[in-house]
Formats: sequence, C-alpha cells, structure tokens
Amino acid sequence: MLHLVTGGAGFIGSHLVDELVAKGHKVRVFDNLSSGREEFISAHSSSDVEFHHGDLLDLEAVVSSMQGIDMVWHLAANPDIRLGTRVTDTDLKQGTVATYNVVEAMRLSGVKDIAFSSSSVVYGEAAVMPTPEDFGPLFPISLYGASKLAGEGLLTSWTGTFGLRCWIFRFANIVGARGTHGVIFDFIHKLKADSSRLEVLGNGLQEKSYMEVNDTARAMIHIVEQADDDINCYNLGSGDTCSVKRIAEIVVEESGFSDVSIEYTGGDRGWAGDVPKAMLAVDRLFQSGFSPTFNSEEAIRHTARSLIEEIGLHE
Ligand code: NAD
Repeated sequence: MLHLVTGGAGFIGSHLVDELVAKGHKVRVFDNLSSGREEFISAHSSSDVEFHHGDLLDLEAVVSSMQGIDMVWHLAANPDIRLGTRVTDTDLKQGTVATYNVVEAMRLSGVKDIAFSSSSVVYGEAAVMPTPEDFGPLFPISLYGASKLAGEGLLTSWTGTFGLRCWIFRFANIVGARGTHGVIFDFIHKLKADSSRLEVLGNGLQEKSYMEVNDTARAMIHIVEQADDDINCYNLGSGDTCSVKRIAEIVVEESGFSDVSIEYTGGDRGWAGDVPKAMLAVDRLFQSGFSPTFNSEEAIRHTARSLIEEIGLHE
C-alpha cells in the first residue's frame, strides 16, 4: 500500500514512517519542514519513502500529493500549544484550514481512509478522569485544542457526507528520540545554558500522561489494522501519569549534574490554556490487544537519555 504522511518529517511522523516501512509499505511524505527535518527520514531509500516538500495551505499541492494514495495519515500541524497565547491565527490556519485542505483533497481525489493526530487537549479541563473517548461536552481551553476539535469535526463530517473512513487518535504527551519540543526538550536546553538551576513553569504539580513515540506509532498502525468502523476514535496513552516535578527530577538525575536547584515559577499551570491535569482512559486501546512498552515515567527517562545525547548536553 502507498501511504501519505503529512508532517512525516516531524517528530511523531518520522517514527510512523519508520514503522510503516518496517511493515513493508511505501510512503509519501508531505511536509513543509517548518518544524520537521528531512534528516529524520533520510535513512530510507527513495523507493520506500518519497519526499514531497509542500505546504498544506496550498490545496493544489495537496491534491497532487494524493495521486495513487491508499491511505492518509494527517499529522502536520503547529506543535506549539503555547504559541496561541501570542499569535491567534496559527492554529486556525495550520490546524483547521490545513485539515480542511487534506479532507477536501481526499474528496477530489477519491481517497477514502484517513488517520488523524488529535490530542487529549480536546477534553479541556475534564470533570471525569481518567477521561474516556465518549466524555462530553468537549470544551478545549487552548486555541490549539480548538483546532484539534475542529479537525475531528471536519473528518467526521466528510465521513458522514462524502463516505470517508476515519481513525481519530487523541494523543497523550508523546515523548522520545528526535523530539524537537516539549517539557523534556526544554529542560535539557535550560540545563545546557545553566547547569546550576532549572526553572519549571508552574508549581510542578501539573500531572499528565506520557507515551513513548515508538509505542505511539505502533499503536496507531495496530488500531487502523483492528478497527474498521466509519469513525474510530481512540485515546493513545500509557495508562498512568507523571508530574512535572518528577520529570524535572528525572532529567536532572539523567544529566549527571549535581547541585541543580529546581525552581518553580508558581501557579497551577505552565501558561494560560495549559491543562494542569490530564489522564486519558486507555481501556479501549488496551482491549484492542495493544500494550505499550513504557509507562509514563519509563518513557520520560528513556526520552531524557536519548535527548541528552541528541542535544549534546555535555558538549
Ligand atoms: P512536529 O512539529 O515534529 O511535526 C509536525 C510536522 O508537520 C513537522 O514536520 C512540520 O514541518 C510539518 N508541518 C507543519 N505545518 C505544515 C504545513 N502547513 N504543511 C506541511 N507540513 C507542515 O510535531 P509532532 O510532535 O511530531 O506532532 C505531530 C502531530 O501530533 C501534530 O498534529 C500534533 O499536533 C500532534 N500531537 C502531538 C503531541 C505531542 O506530544 N508531541 C500530542 C498531541 C498531538
């Protein structure tokens, strides 16, 4: 099968490309390299992975990339939730409009199957925790969350109206090698700049689920192989949580630096729109026969080790 992966040169996308190729599939990557890197996919031969440099805001380019495609994995988006506190139209364009262009290009090209990287942030500050897929109403509190919820609506409406089939994945925080953003990445950069102190945004008690990126890519493919309703919606997480305070401690332990003072800026959240506590119910994922290799804390330690190496903390 020939798969189109939007954002395939990004952090999660490039691991998904690796898994698809390992399973014998051919892949076309569509990416504008705004936060992705071509080197993340350059180990693959051009007969396995074809790279299309293009922007999802260019509908014509998206339509051309659909030629011969059996299934679309739509991962491209602005990855930075915090950006919405300063720039208010990025998620609208890179999330909502980009997703419209993807489903519209599929309609115009007759491609039917799409998997989408949504997020736990669609639940907002959910009253029920762990939060199951059928929790509602969905009231996201970030602009990024609003664009993910809009993306889900576009997929389900194109499914209802034009006969698409969709797999919606509501990700926990995804961590691992090749990470280019997120809390572990930020902590390592802060320690590289100053190894005597580590500033943590908020009071450190924010608590979320973390999933390792290879587990995430394997889980996505596993669910697409198992679930064949018109609309398939799954939380992807590891079944537990970890606090930001514990992440800071793990990163400091793995850094090998002694006498690091961990300092908290205070408040219950890192920034306006940050959800202080998120825990996904993963019963549906586990009942499908998938079990992740790492729990949250193990995924964080594994990631800290990989990123300390990649970032060159001690260089
Ligand atoms: P990433 O920034 O590494 O990947 C996004 C990719 O999309 C990049 O390669 C970027 O160059 C590309 N891209 C962005 N805008 C584009 C555009 N207009 N046209 C073409 N390409 C474009 O981020 P990631 O962490 O790998 O995230 C992948 C997806 O998973 C995103 O949709 C993100 O919202 C979602 N997600 C990530 C997490 C997480 O913890 N990392 C959690 C929930 C959801």
